[in-house]
Amino acid sequence: MKEPQLHFTGQVWRPPYEAGSQLLQVTSGCTWHRCKFCSLYHGTPFRMSPLSEVEEDLRVIRQWQPRARRVYLTGANPFVMRYDKLMDIAILLRKYLPHMESFGMFARVTDIAPKSVEELKNLRHMKLDNLNIGMETAHDPTLERMNKGYHAADILEQLSKLDAAGIRYNVVYLNGLGGKGVGEASAVASAEVLNKLHPWIVNIVSLTIFPEAPLYQEVLNGTYEEEPEVERLLEMRTFISRLAIKTNILANHISNTVPLTGALPNDQAIILRELDRAIALLPESELRGYREGVMHL
Ligand code: SF4
Repeated sequence: MKEPQLHFTGQVWRPPYEAGSQLLQVTSGCTWHRCKFCSLYHGTPFRMSPLSEVEEDLRVIRQWQPRARRVYLTGANPFVMRYDKLMDIAILLRKYLPHMESFGMFARVTDIAPKSVEELKNLRHMKLDNLNIGMETAHDPTLERMNKGYHAADILEQLSKLDAAGIRYNVVYLNGLGGKGVGEASAVASAEVLNKLHPWIVNIVSLTIFPEAPLYQEVLNGTYEEEPEVERLLEMRTFISRLAIKTNILANHISNTVPLTGALPNDQAIILRELDRAIALLPESELRGYREGVMHL
């Protein structure tokens, strides 16, 4: 008998902390596809899964994981879906997986904009929680240079709506994104914005440029200079030292030369001490050697 299969298309990504979640495809690819540093979803055109396909997959999941507690909807930014469609999916999730406690997904800052706080509250009521948002930085010149398609003011406005709706969210800070000499400014601007918000997790990823990313060409033709590794650690130090909120720091991704985790404010001093030790002891060449060995994220 043929085993039932789920509809996964192209690259499927989920944050490391969603490893225990049941994955369900509702979109594939990215609606934006313009961030210069990005090589994720390369060659995968954006597509929204029809509800019939989502329901078909849920029938399979109900058979194999009937007690799934957390569902992660896949695609670069499924939160781009209209409120009505997200509600339809939330209703299907509740119908097929009655034990589900929450569902989440990746979202772009711009995906939140068309949704009112009232609509977000309704989605929260339907168990939406822990959105993952690739903020990258709140330094406007860097956001513009990298074609992120929004500014620091948008991050503040849209993520404040999630706070108002009671939806937890995690943000990615892309260490090194501004390039050589810009890290300090990026760290200061980003901490300033996050200090007005309530991210559950601040996930620090260090920029690793792959040949499929448009930024790779800029590195080759000399119009973009990567931030040296020691400078990145100093950037991360400034960023973490300036965070004055209660949050969780996850900097233990494969891209991090010095893996660190902790909860702020309690672990702030320990994390900073670890960073100081690394800055004092690790030579640039060794850190760079690590970066060059990272084959994929
Ligand atoms: S970083 Fe995110 S929003 Fe930007 S192109 Fe890549 S997947 Fe799309």
